[in-house]
Amino acid sequence: MARILVVEDELELSKIMAEWLEDEFHVVNVAHTGSEAQAKLATSVFELIILDLMLPEVNGIEICRSYRESGGATPILMVTAKKSLSSKENGLDSGADDYLTKPFKLRELSARVRALLRRPKAVVPTVLSAGSIELDLNARTVTRGGQEVRLVGKEFALLELLMRNAGKVITVDTIIDNLWSESSNISNDTVRSHIRSLRQKLDGDSDTKSIVTLHGIGYRIDER
Ligand code: CA
Repeated sequence: MARILVVEDELELSKIMAEWLEDEFHVVNVAHTGSEAQAKLATSVFELIILDLMLPEVNGIEICRSYRESGGATPILMVTAKKSLSSKENGLDSGADDYLTKPFKLRELSARVRALLRRPKAVVPTVLSAGSIELDLNARTVTRGGQEVRLVGKEFALLELLMRNAGKVITVDTIIDNLWSESSNISNDTVRSHIRSLRQKLDGDSDTKSIVTLHGIGYRIDER
């Protein structure tokens, strides 16, 4: 299972790709324009990006280049209808890892996705910290004040999202967008109950509240 961003302006195709990948147990997020993709890349972390070349607003090459320049290390699979060698070279030069030409078979998409996800992960900081909380992305463990905190299901991903954005407010919509696939109708109550159980595990009986609620807006975890 991986978190995948699909950037595709053809609605029907994006839907088919998302459903196909969800059937393979991935969590899929879809962006239909270049700027929507950039906004998602700025706030969320994905394990793979499937990026159409020709997009409204900002094209795939631009997105790829600016994402790499800002230090983004997630593998990118560029998808395009152009068959010419020059566009292929352009895509790879801009920082894409692989290339898929439209029309493609969904099984070929799966094979490329599998190959890219098998690559060793880029070396990026693997331990996030905020105050006395430490989250180890590789070991998938969390400690608070050195004590292990056992998280289950979405709790880990929720804490990871808050900690990656420590000091910033994360809206409920952003949480839903990051943790669940688009097709799974999640209500604000579900988010609230996940926050509640996460808080209980992190804080226990302690007076220090690790997660701050901003009523009607969202949640924040402070850096110290
Ligand atoms: Ca397109």
